[in-house]
Amino acid sequence: MNVPFADLHAQYLTIKHSVDAAIADVIRTSAFIRGPYVQKFEEEFAVAMQLKHCVSCANGTDSLFIAMHGLGVKPGDEVIAPAHSWISTSETITQAGGTVVFSDTDESTYTIDPVDIEAKITSRTVGIIPVHLYGQPANMGAIMAIARKHKLWVIEDCAQAHMAKWEGQQVGTFGDAASFSFYPGKNLGAMGDAGAVCTNNTSLAERMAMFARHGGLRKGDHQIEGINSRLDGLQAAVLSVKLPHLPEWTRLRQARAQRYSEELSSIGGVTIPHVANGRDHVWHLYVIQHEKRDDLARHLLHNGIQTAINYPVALPFLPAYSRFNHKNTDFKNAFHTQRTCLSLPIYPEMSNEQQDHVINCVAAFCREV
Ligand SMILES: *Cc1c(COP(=O)(O)O)cnc(C)c1O
Repeated sequence: MNVPFADLHAQYLTIKHSVDAAIADVIRTSAFIRGPYVQKFEEEFAVAMQLKHCVSCANGTDSLFIAMHGLGVKPGDEVIAPAHSWISTSETITQAGGTVVFSDTDESTYTIDPVDIEAKITSRTVGIIPVHLYGQPANMGAIMAIARKHKLWVIEDCAQAHMAKWEGQQVGTFGDAASFSFYPGKNLGAMGDAGAVCTNNTSLAERMAMFARHGGLRKGDHQIEGINSRLDGLQAAVLSVKLPHLPEWTRLRQARAQRYSEELSSIGGVTIPHVANGRDHVWHLYVIQHEKRDDLARHLLHNGIQTAINYPVALPFLPAYSRFNHKNTDFKNAFHTQRTCLSLPIYPEMSNEQQDHVINCVAAFCREV
């Protein structure tokens, strides 16, 4: 039996009729750039994220860059990001002209550790970018308290956590801005690259929209130099079809995760993901830990099961950040996670039989080692 890491085609088949019709509509009206489909999705997404404004853009990475530009990051400014994330979170700090400062992650939730954030604050710190990693909210209570105390802005990186909740409140609604990716494999995915940044701050929304649209909100009116980062009509139309399904897809991911945890918790050697109190996890990824992670991954692949490592090298240890000369002991938890983490297949359309196969193969491997 084959179990892919994710199955985008299976999802497409469940909504084929609506997706095909939406794409045909965009083609018929040639509304490829800006236009009604983009505006409609921006309005719908802002409502779903419980925020006033949505500025759509070309991808999730741009949404972080645009947000930092809107917040006025300038040379010398330090921005704190988690040591364990996708590189978009940190590379955009440098792109925006700031300096990256890494904070270690919490050992059990893999999200940024508030205690280490506070230890990394200097007189030059201007902001924090918590990542709701794998779909689990970061500790937003502690993070917002630190931000208020030190007068820092917060951009929530929600790329993996659409509609996750911290103590009943949706992620993205805590900080100054919330960045989202609609990369095809994300919980809400387009059929290509797409992203958005949401906020309740009207003047910030205007600055971000202006920057993303060549520095002007009307054609020919360039107030500043900007960039060209836009969501296209085809992606917007597809996203509008998918958005109403997101709550149900999230429930299915949660059911899969619960089943994994029930079945894997009793298997020796496997550390199942820990969900901290008060956090609604949306399971973009189901990440276990195992001391023989690479052997386990090989065993699963041999049995037709695709896995992934998110991520094999924590950000401070990448060649891209060799200029900081960080040691493994500087980020003990992130270093431990990179060595032992393994992402098992999880997606809404996964069948019971497929999941049984994964569970049985993990159990068989653990009995032998
Ligand atoms: C996917 C992702 C991004 C960036 O998204 P793209 O749309 O691929 O540019 C940013 N941060 C995190 C944590 C992500 O997982």
